[in-house]
Amino acid sequence: MRWRGVIEQYREYLSVTDKTPVITLNEGGTPFISCNNLAKAINPEISLYLKFEGANPTGSFKDRGMTMAISKAVEEGARAVICASTGNTSASAAAYGARAGLKVFVLIPEGKIAVGKLAQAMIHQACVIQIEGNFDEALSIVKSIASEYPVTIVNSINPYRLEGQKTAAFEVCDHLAGYPDYHFLPVGNAGNITAYWMGYKEYYKNGRTSGLPRMMGFQAAGSAPIVYGHVIENPRTIATAIRIGNPAGWKTAVEAATESNGQIDMVTDEEILKAYGMLASLEGVFCEAASAASVAGVIKKNKEGLFSGGERVVCTLTGHGLKDTEMAINLSKRPVTVKGDKVEVLKVLGY
Ligand SMILES: *Cc1c(COP(=O)(O)O)cnc(C)c1O
Repeated sequence: MRWRGVIEQYREYLSVTDKTPVITLNEGGTPFISCNNLAKAINPEISLYLKFEGANPTGSFKDRGMTMAISKAVEEGARAVICASTGNTSASAAAYGARAGLKVFVLIPEGKIAVGKLAQAMIHQACVIQIEGNFDEALSIVKSIASEYPVTIVNSINPYRLEGQKTAAFEVCDHLAGYPDYHFLPVGNAGNITAYWMGYKEYYKNGRTSGLPRMMGFQAAGSAPIVYGHVIENPRTIATAIRIGNPAGWKTAVEAATESNGQIDMVTDEEILKAYGMLASLEGVFCEAASAASVAGVIKKNKEGLFSGGERVVCTLTGHGLKDTEMAINLSKRPVTVKGDKVEVLKVLGY
């Protein structure tokens, strides 16, 4: 049957009724990719899989949560929504908001979001406000406005966001016909790790799986408040999607890691970029730098001796590489320029 978006596919697990207007772009149903080349390079004894969330309609996993948040906002009579964003939330809110006919306000940290994401918010005609400050400051302003004015917040503190996002865990289990041993993912505002853990627990409770994965969340080393145990005032990392110093989902992320016997750890920008390059060159998968924190985490934990062999390891790749082409170009070999002449081209080819 045709894929109908996460609300229709997983309706019985979500707080929707016949009266909920379903605002969808047919998100979800993203590629689940087995990665032999990458596994061979890291540890040939493990089975490595990617959940490529960059294949969602606006290019990130945020669409899973946004279809729920926007549908419920419309059901509840909202005329406007607002969010703070490192980019992808604003892109998704702008798209789903446009489809629903809502006014969309987005606050972003000036100069710190990838240009593709900014382009998305702009073309969908969201009202984009750049603030001279970071994501954490933007979120605090948004929370305050949403509590005083008739505008619905669609950040991951909106419970419908996490409900939608938990469907990714359902899909992983459906693909595997079971549960993975480990689930690795990047951690920014810490909503997604919370959502995945909810999803895994729900499938387990409903007898759809016979066990639970260990949740392995990875922050960027310059933006790792959970790892250090304190707020980071000036978070730094090239992975702008996870450049967050005071995550809203801090407590629930720690619970996910603790309850699942997993962990929240960090990887350096260098490790992130190495994984980002390996995904593209070994597997043909182009993800965002932030997304590669999951694979960088696998590489780090493998070196520490975490795996004994035979484990099924899933990495979420949260967003698409095309969001930030500058990053890819800066890290790659320049194209060669020659005269428009076959002989000149052959010289470069080495024939
Ligand atoms: C939002 C986002 C993250 C972080 O997810 P959280 O739920 O905030 O932890 C990671 N990667 C990408 C590409 C994102 O858009």
